[in-house]
Order: sequence, then structure tokens, then C-alpha cells
Amino acid sequence: MKRIFPYPLLFVTAIVFDRVAISITQIDPEQSLRSLFVLLFLGMVALFTLQRFVKDWQRADFTIFMAALLFVLYKPLYRTIVWNFPQQADYLGIALIPLLGWLYAVVTSRKLWRFIRKPAQLTYYLNLVCATLLMFQVVRLGEGFYARSASKNGLTAVPALTEEIRLEGDTRPDIYIIILDGYGRRDVLQSIYGYDNSEFIGGLEKRGFYIPTKNHSNYIQTTYAMASLWNFDYLQPWAPPSDYGQYILQPIQNNRAFELLHDAGYTTVSFEGALSYTQIYNADVYLTNSLPLNKFEALSLVDTPLEPLSNIFDLKIPVPTYKTHRTRTLYKFDALKTVPNAVPGPKIVYAHFLMPHPPFVFDRYGAVLPQRQPYKLWDDSETAGGAEEYRQGYREQVTFVNGKVLQAIDGVIANSKTPPVILVMGDHGPASMFHFDIDAPGCVWERTGNLYALRLPGHLNDGALYPTISPVNTFRVIFNAYFGAELPLLEDRSYLAASQYKAEIKDVTNSRDSLAGCAMPGGQNPADE
Ligand SMILES: [Zn+2]
Repeated sequence: MKRIFPYPLLFVTAIVFDRVAISITQIDPEQSLRSLFVLLFLGMVALFTLQRFVKDWQRADFTIFMAALLFVLYKPLYRTIVWNFPQQADYLGIALIPLLGWLYAVVTSRKLWRFIRKPAQLTYYLNLVCATLLMFQVVRLGEGFYARSASKNGLTAVPALTEEIRLEGDTRPDIYIIILDGYGRRDVLQSIYGYDNSEFIGGLEKRGFYIPTKNHSNYIQTTYAMASLWNFDYLQPWAPPSDYGQYILQPIQNNRAFELLHDAGYTTVSFEGALSYTQIYNADVYLTNSLPLNKFEALSLVDTPLEPLSNIFDLKIPVPTYKTHRTRTLYKFDALKTVPNAVPGPKIVYAHFLMPHPPFVFDRYGAVLPQRQPYKLWDDSETAGGAEEYRQGYREQVTFVNGKVLQAIDGVIANSKTPPVILVMGDHGPASMFHFDIDAPGCVWERTGNLYALRLPGHLNDGALYPTISPVNTFRVIFNAYFGAELPLLEDRSYLAASQYKAEIKDVTNSRDSLAGCAMPGGQNPADE
């Protein structure tokens, strides 16, 4: 009896534990429980069903084990396809399924099984292998839990609040935070991209937005920019032994703005995003157009047969692909308009668009642009085929985004009972000539030159808004204007900080308008304008 121990179940458990150990600093391990339970349940059902037919536990075990093994094997094969044939990856990925199916039929066939002289020995051997594998994963997981608990009370990017803030007011407007990732300031688009943005800016102004002209972003990477915006404060540098992921993620997921507004009776609303730091998981209302999978489950389905299947047959699995990227973007633009009616009462709404940021997936009319590279979200001067290709893609996508954003804003304003506060902002500027190198960053002027547009009904001309306003002061201004918070404004500064330099934050406030590292196409100098 002991030799027919169901080792496929050990194997499946080891695979799940492996995924948990990999993601433990970013994702709560509890998120894996549903997957583990479902997989073990399915494994058992399959095992017992098979046993009824073959009447041989050893063969049933082996057959289920091979299925799990081939499922694991799919991942590196599919990755190889994606890297070598990104444009055909979906169809090749699907073609791989019957191919592995055929291999499975061969290795689990009765013919081959008869070939095995001592099945008991094979079972014993696989028991040993799977048990060892599981033990190894348990140790890894233990280490992960230990590191997690050690860093739990560690340093986070935002220091604790020193003053108590109470939000009190009668108006209580809805607040919309719309981030257009990498959207540059008007003069940056004009000088570097040869792109005249005045129609869009005029459109925002017509809708009651204030648009400063001498503004800069506070940070040059999304994580830092968002942590600072949400907590209306500058960030302290990371230091060991705290976990870097938690250091930067905690201040976003449990941010001051959401907490204060929630305490003041607001409903917090977040849209699903591609990245952990472009969405807020524990918002009161979490809006998504994909299946209600948790982060662990979504991540576990990456590079499985479900990825190409979801792409072709629109299964709505949030795997990181161009298809998901486009669908999610379109969904968010459309759904924004319906939020005023769908969510009753005062609300803070967060929609983060990874646009006009690369990858450039839409042309100006919203048509799908073909891609030559596997899906990734990296953004710097090396992103596409050099600066000129970056600019070309950027111009197309930004034109598309402009139209979509104005439509969404019109919907939000029309459906809101109280005139809403709306921020439309690039978390930083674009990067056709910028690299993530603190000592040689390229064009800092481009990267810190972000779009900033704030609609603050009733406060357009009372001095609350000013030409150098930066993201860090956004919630200070909003809380002062409507909730009597009397928060002091901070100096509008800019810093180079990036995940590549964890412990270093470099002040570039005094050099951010220098054009060092900025080669203007056509040789025009923006300072001359
Ligand atoms: Zn960004």
C-alpha cells in the first residue's frame, strides 16, 4: 500500500509551493490556497477515475504524473517560441498543445507501460523524487516566510504621518485620478516629438482644467511617482534589511489618500492594472474586465497553454500580453464614464493607463499596431528601435489617447451630480532619450517634463493652483480646497530614483531644465521658443 502513495499530488503541491516561494515578497501566500485546493481536488478525481478504468494504481499514478510534468514542460517551450517568433506565438503556442498531447499519449500508452518490467520500482523511485522535491520547496517556503516576517515591520518609502489630518467639508466632490503613464509636458512634446498638443490642452482647459506650464514630475519611475502622489510626501531611500518590494509597494497599496478619504466616508475605487503598483487591490470597488483571478492565479497562468488560448479565444485571463494590454485599456476608457452612476456616494477613483508609455499598440485611430518583440512594459531610449521609432510610435499612441481621455472626461462630468475633481497626469515624461542610469541618465528634461492637468471646481482662479505645481502637492491642494486640511505645500522638487538603484535617491531639481543629453531633432532648442 505504501508504494502506491499518490506522488502526482506531491508533485503538484511542490509546483505550487515553488510559485509561492518565487512571489512571496510581492504576493500574499494565502492567495495560492484556492489554486492548490482546486489542483489537488482535480488530481484526486482524475486519479480515482483513471483507476476505475485501468485497475492499476501504479499506472494511474504514472499517467497523472506525466500530465503534470508535460504541463510544466510547456512553459520553457512556449517561452522559446515567444522569444523567437513573437508575432506567431499565439498560433504556435496552440499548435504545441496537440504535439505535447501526442507525446503524452505515447508515454502513457499501454504498450509502453508493459515495457516497464518492475512498475513497483518506478513508483518507488518517483515517490522518492517527488517527496524530495516537495521537501526542498517546503524549506524554500520557510525561508520566504521568515524573510517576509522580518521585513514586515521594516522601512517603507513613506515616513509615518507626523500630524493628524481630518477631512471635513460640505462639498465632498468625487475625485478622479487618471494617470496617463509617460505623458509629457506640452513643450517637451513640441520640441522632442515635433508634436503639437495644443488641441488636447485646449480641450482640457475648456472642460475646466488648470494646466501649469513650468511643472515637473517629482520622480522618473512609476513606482516612486505613485508612492509619492498617493501619500503627498517625498520618499525616503530604501535600506536593508527591509524587503525592497514591500518598501515601495506598501505605501501604494495602503496609501494615506485612500485611507483618509475612506475614513471621511468616500468609497475607494480602483481599476485592475497590469502591474502591482498601478492598481490598488483592497479598494472598496475593484473594477476589471477579466476573470476574477487573484494575483497569484493570474501569474501562475503565464506561459501555460491558457495564455495563447486566452489571446485567440478571448478567455479574459489577465495574462501579460499585447491583447490583454489593449483590451484592458479600452475597457477602462469606457468604464470610467459609467463610474459616477455605478458607484453611489462620494468616491475616489483611480484609473492608471500604461499609455502613451510603450509598448505602442494603437495607431492614432485605435487600429492595432503589429509588434516585433515579445510583450514587455519597459520604457527607456532602448525600448523600441531607437529614439526615432520611439517618437513615431509615441505620436500615434498619444493622439489616440487624447481623444479617448476627453471622451471619458465628458462622460464623467456629464454623469456626476457634484462637479468632480479630476487629475489627468503623466507620472513622469517620456523616454526617447532617457535611460535608467543615475550617473548618465540622458535627457532628464524630457523625463521630468510631465503633463499635469487638475480640475478643481470653484478654485480655478483663487491661487490654489500655480505654474510649478508637481504631483506631490496634488492631494495637499485638494484636501486644503475642499476639506479644510490646511496642509503646508512642499517644495516642487525632482529626484532620480529607480528600482535599479534601491538605496540611492538623487536630487536633480537644479539641473532638470538643463538640455544636457537632449539631442533635439532638427536641432531646435526649446529654450529659444
Ligand atoms: Zn510611469
